[in-house]
Order: sequence, then structure tokens, then C-alpha cells
Amino acid sequence: MEYRHLGKSGLQVSALSLGSWLTFGHQISDKTADDLMGIAYDAGVNFFDNAEGYAAGKSEIVMGKILKAHKWERESFVLSSKVFFGTVDKGPNRVGLSRKHVIEACNGALSRLQVDYLDLYFCHRPDRNTPIEETVWAMNMLLQQGKILYWGTSEWDAAEIMEAIRVAKQYNLIGPTMEQPQYNLMERNKLENEYLLLFKEYGLGATVWSPLASGLLSGKYTAKKTKDTRLELKGMEWLKDAVLNEEKLKKAEQLQTLADALDVSLAKLSLAWCLKNPHVSTVILGASKTEQLDENLTALEVLPLLTDEVMDRIEAIVQTKPKI
Ligand code: NDP
Repeated sequence: MEYRHLGKSGLQVSALSLGSWLTFGHQISDKTADDLMGIAYDAGVNFFDNAEGYAAGKSEIVMGKILKAHKWERESFVLSSKVFFGTVDKGPNRVGLSRKHVIEACNGALSRLQVDYLDLYFCHRPDRNTPIEETVWAMNMLLQQGKILYWGTSEWDAAEIMEAIRVAKQYNLIGPTMEQPQYNLMERNKLENEYLLLFKEYGLGATVWSPLASGLLSGKYTAKKTKDTRLELKGMEWLKDAVLNEEKLKKAEQLQTLADALDVSLAKLSLAWCLKNPHVSTVILGASKTEQLDENLTALEVLPLLTDEVMDRIEAIVQTKPKI
């Protein structure tokens, strides 16, 4: 496994990490979740991603039980949670980024995950009804209390991250260390355009999500077979519509031909492409089956195949490079 600094921070995360969205506490059994964490940890994965909103808190409960059962040393892994979406849909103060919800959500995550502190704590979305000052102060209170070690954002606009950095500087506080944006062959603007100044000037780290665009970039949907996948989960109709898009499916098919010519799986090629971007601190993998994770964890092997010529061929197929 390769380890990368989380932006300019001293913390190192495995280039491939494991997340629990839709899977832990929902799509998969607790036994499969346990198997996935074991496979990942044994392969050198040191970062596990979670959020209060995943399966309404159940994802954290499942992960907490697994961490406890394995008795892995706390120093050997980096654990995250995120605040914003809440765990229950009751009352205005159980969501968002107010001081009240940030503090209460962190305490909730610590108890569900059965740990004394979170290494990374993300603001899962911007809260445009709460002053950024209030959130920056709340995060710094948690840092001071030792309940979190680094804080960051997820899917914030560059201007909002800049504002958080400015506020932190103004009050001698600690600003965001990392962002968690979507990044894959279909969705590139934040990483390759919008955040460039943040990477260069402020050394922002990036823990990127949905590297396979929810499985589309494994090539498995070209036949439109969705049985036994996340696209059939209740409430995921919006995702099914987004993934089974004719234009994207056509691109996936062409990428598959390229992957075949290189004699690698399309999933590995797509993951390696994400890893090649030097601004990526870690690519967060998702998996509902151990075979998927076994395959994805070998994606680093494909990096040497990504020559300029292969990168150009990929670019010609996807045509998603942001115009700067
Ligand atoms: P991917 O885009 O990589 O999708 C993972 C899913 O694709 C798997 O669960 C599986 O779904 C399918 N899959 C994975 N590997 C293969 C393979 N080799 N062959 C065929 N199918 C495969 O990542 P996720 O969308 O799961 O995102 C990863 C993590 O990022 C999440 O767990 C979460 O921690 C984080 N995240 C953060 C968000 C944020 O807003 N901050 C938003 C979304 C995710 P299936 O069961 O359908 O086969």
C-alpha cells in the first residue's frame, strides 16, 4: 500500500481507503462488513470513512462493533465521521452545522463508533443558514477538547472553503485540512478546476468519493443489468437514473474496450486514473462484496500502465476534462 499526506498536514492516509455509504447497516450484512474491513486492514488500508447520515447512524454502529471486535490499535487507523444530515428526522436542530448540532453530532458519532476521538471530521455539506464563523468555532472547540484531530468539508464551493480559511486566520483558529469531493472519470470539475488554488496556496487535502461513479466505471451496467446492486435499493431511483444514462454508458463501453486492450479490469483502470492525480490524498473505495474489494485493492498495480498515450486515449473517450 502507498501512503499519502493529507494535503500539507502531517497525517498520512492510505492511497486507497474504505467507505461505508449505502453498504454498512443497510445493503450488506454485518458479517460482510466485518470481512470487508478485515480485507482492507490486512491490505494496509488505514482510513475508514463514515458519517452520521449513513443508514441513519447504523453504519457507525456496525463499524464501531467491528473496530472493537478486531482490537486494532487505535494508532493504526484513521477514522472519520461527518456532520450535517443528522440521524433522525425530528426537529430543526438535529441537522446542519450550528454549534449545537456539530457538538451533539460529534458526541453521537463517538458513542456509536465506540472511540474517544475521530481523526477526521467533515462538514458533509455547506449549511447556508449558519454563519461559517459559528461552524469554524465549533470545530475548533472539538479540536481543543481532543474529540477530533482534523476537520474538513465535503462538497463545499471553493469560495466557501476560502471563507472558512479566512475566518480561521482572523481568529487564530485551525481551518479546514481537507475536502471530500466526488471524483471520477465522469465528474472532475472540483478537483481539476475549482479547487486548484486551494491545493496550491493552502495545501488542502482531498479524500475523494465514488471513484467508480457508483459502479458505472466497472463497466457492469453496459448491459443495463441492475439486479443485486445498489441501484435496486429503495430510495435510490435518482441514482439509477443518473447511472443508467445513455451517454455515460456509451463512454463506459468504450473505456471497457481500452481496458480489455490493456488486459486490466475497467474498475482497476478507473481507480488508477483517480490515483494518478497528485491532489488526491486517498481514493475512498466502496464495495458490497469481498470480491469487489479484493479487485479494487490491487488498482495501484495499474498506475504504471497509465502512460501519456493511454491518458490521451482515456481523455478522447470521456471528454470530461474541465475547460480552465
Ligand atoms: P464507488 O463509486 O466506487 O461505488 C462503489 C460500489 O460500486 C460498490 O458498493 C459496488 O456496488 C460497486 N463496485 C465496487 N467495486 C466494483 C467492482 N470491482 N466491480 C463491480 N462493481 C463494483 O464508491 P461509493 O459511491 O461507494 O463511494 C465510496 C465512499 O465514498 C462511500 O462509502 C463513502 O464513504 C464516501 N462517499 C462520500 C460522499 C460525500 O458526500 N462525502 C458521497 C458518497 C460517498 P454494488 O453493490 O451496486 O455492486
